[in-house]
Amino acid sequence: MQPDLPKYQAWRRRMVEQLRQRGITNRALLEAMLKLPRHWFCGDTLLDNMLYDIDCAVPIDCGQTISKPYTVALQTQLLEVEPYMTVLEVGTGSGYQAAVLCEMKARVYTVERQRALYNKTKALLASLCYTARCYLGDSFNGIPELKDYKYDRILVTCGAPNIPEGLMKQLKVGGVMVIPVGEEQQEMVKVYKDGESPDQWRIEKHGDAMFVPMLEGTR
Ligand code: SAH
Repeated sequence: MQPDLPKYQAWRRRMVEQLRQRGITNRALLEAMLKLPRHWFCGDTLLDNMLYDIDCAVPIDCGQTISKPYTVALQTQLLEVEPYMTVLEVGTGSGYQAAVLCEMKARVYTVERQRALYNKTKALLASLCYTARCYLGDSFNGIPELKDYKYDRILVTCGAPNIPEGLMKQLKVGGVMVIPVGEEQQEMVKVYKDGESPDQWRIEKHGDAMFVPMLEGTR
């Protein structure tokens, strides 16, 4: 693992300043992104300067990507996370988003459908002493091992064809889900679950988004 050299710390200060200028105001979130060496989550050191560009998504293993910093910040801000909330993240990927949520003192459950990424990221998060619980699965219905569990927040970090009902069932009433919805290009959607019935789900749209697709099954 690359040490946290002064150049990385300088790039992070610039990144956080740019996020602030773009309307990210959540203090705990900005502090987490300032603290967390993003390059620990991406093996390719050739790409390390791109990693701190707020508009740059970077490839990780299995043909997937680590979301660009602005997207991580926007989704996390929309999620309105408070300490000790339970958060389900769909799409563990590199583990960066999960680590940001841990830094914000959330209790994180994260699920990934690619076995190789699941294994690698689970080990990485544990080696960094993050307590995020990692699961393998396709999560259209949440985490298979925790069928009856309900979360305060759900964050989907892959492009979903629609708002999966099985996932909405696992959100507590009063909870919030942030999810990019659409096939090739998506729209960032925030869903407020005001009651159990779908007509009590309020939808707010937050602009265009671009994510790898949310797919069924594991591989
Ligand atoms: N949050 C990640 C971004 C990962 S990209 C990070 O911080 O790096 C999206 C991830 O979602 C990919 O790793 C992809 O394999 C995974 N994914 C796609 N469909 C999924 C599904 N149905 N369930 C769980 N993970 C899924």
